[in-house]
Amino acid sequence: MQLSVGHRRVAVHGRRSAAAPRHRLVDALAAAAGLGLGVVVGLAVSSESSLSAPGGGLTFAGRLTGLVGAYAMLLTVLLAGRLGVLERAIGQDRLVAWHRRLAPWSLVLIGAHTVLTVLGYAQRAGTGPLHEFWSLVTTTRWMLAATVGLGLLTFVGVSSYRGARRRMSHETWWSVHLYTYLGLALAFTHQITSGAAFVAQPWARTFWIALWLGTAGVVLAYRVLLPVWRSVVHRVRVERVTEEAPGIVSLTLTGRSLHTLPLSGGQFLHWRFLRRGMWWQAHPYSVSALPAGGRLRITVKDLGDHSRALADLPVGTRVAFEGPYGAFTADRAAGRRVLAIAGGVGVTPIRTLLEELPPGSAPIVVLRATHVDDLVHDDEIEVLARRRGGFVHRLVGSRRDVHMSAATLLALAPDIAQRDVYLCGPDGLTEQAYRAAVRAGVPADRIHHETFSS
Ligand SMILES: Cc1cc2nc3c(=O)[nH]c(=O)nc-3n(C[C@H](O)[C@H](O)[C@H](O)COP(=O)(O)OP(=O)(O)OC[C@H]3O[C@@H](n4cnc5c(N)ncnc54)[C@H](O)[C@@H]3O)c2cc1C
Repeated sequence: MQLSVGHRRVAVHGRRSAAAPRHRLVDALAAAAGLGLGVVVGLAVSSESSLSAPGGGLTFAGRLTGLVGAYAMLLTVLLAGRLGVLERAIGQDRLVAWHRRLAPWSLVLIGAHTVLTVLGYAQRAGTGPLHEFWSLVTTTRWMLAATVGLGLLTFVGVSSYRGARRRMSHETWWSVHLYTYLGLALAFTHQITSGAAFVAQPWARTFWIALWLGTAGVVLAYRVLLPVWRSVVHRVRVERVTEEAPGIVSLTLTGRSLHTLPLSGGQFLHWRFLRRGMWWQAHPYSVSALPAGGRLRITVKDLGDHSRALADLPVGTRVAFEGPYGAFTADRAAGRRVLAIAGGVGVTPIRTLLEELPPGSAPIVVLRATHVDDLVHDDEIEVLARRRGGFVHRLVGSRRDVHMSAATLLALAPDIAQRDVYLCGPDGLTEQAYRAAVRAGVPADRIHHETFSS
């Protein structure tokens, strides 16, 4: 058995664990993204030849915004591309947050490209913008496809605004999101056939095509091929469904060579149960017991249609999966000692995180629940914590009675400022505990949290 809380590979009980964060690689990828932006701006500038002509300034601005917007769109897609090294080093929640922040900018830039280019061409031709737009769409090759592509991307963007998203189910929103790929595919060809930067410079055309094909390759490999391959190789099935508490069930899953999955304590996978009415949706659930003896376990609280249906899954149901993902892992800790706070079903990643803490790490675990019935796996957590020289506090009661303040945390873990803090639970509890930990003296970069909301 080899354990580590540093940035090294971790092997526990002969199981293959995920590689630790490769910060240098992530830095290199960030530098490559910055370099790529420089090349893209250079492309726009190097292909400029008619700045002083009528409409020249607008046309140049249109070209620049188009190229930078398309490049930003590719980065947006890559951030959500489930690229293993990024998922592991940064965490899916942060990648998704960056994806959401960058996406509106790329759309605005692409929209600006359309408006500026039409205005520039109209000025050059001495016609009105609407006339020029119609002429471009009807006479220039691939321009109609690009316009439809922009419409699709805008539709996806609008559907992702919080107000719109709240009104639709996760599955509807996800299905709409798939149109991003169609939108991008439709918009691609007009760039190569009409873009001044590419028509005149073959090397630029090669660079741009490679960039787009590379992005498509990453998406195909990590979002489709790898999950299919792993699902086929591991042949996961439901072995047992156990009721843990009212509305909470555990699924014991069996499979071939599960110990070879690069899975660390605290991580989650997207699970797809291959049953009628369920196979088309994949939901994220953290592993609540790491692979051992050809089995692993997930524990799920009934929060809607999918999670509720799991209680009635027949034994033997085949399961496909995507992942593992997540950076809520023991190797993120800067120090040896840990305070872990779990609310409700947020106990699942904390339970497996404990499995990977080294002996003598004296973890302090705080389990927060409204009712005593909601405390699931607390007996297992007690055993795992005690084996490592730590202990468990149970805070049961309503929010009015139990407040997660700095004073509470200091009373439970007087040396909290020297510990890494791991938080998982409902958003309200996680935010309250985060603020309390900061006030109790824990540096923000030593507070690690997993969110169960999308
Ligand atoms: C990283 C992560 C780990 C999780 N681990 C666990 C766990 O170990 N145990 C557990 O009980 N729950 C876990 N969840 C929450 C679980 O994924 C949702 O409760 C479940 O997907 C709800 O689906 P539903 O159809 O039952 O409910 P719905 O009514 O469809 O949704 C309830 C809530 O879950 C969100 N949600 C629905 N589908 C998805 C999806 N495919 N991806 C992300 N969010 C979705 C919705 O936006 C909504 O906020 C985790 C969530 C995340 C993001």
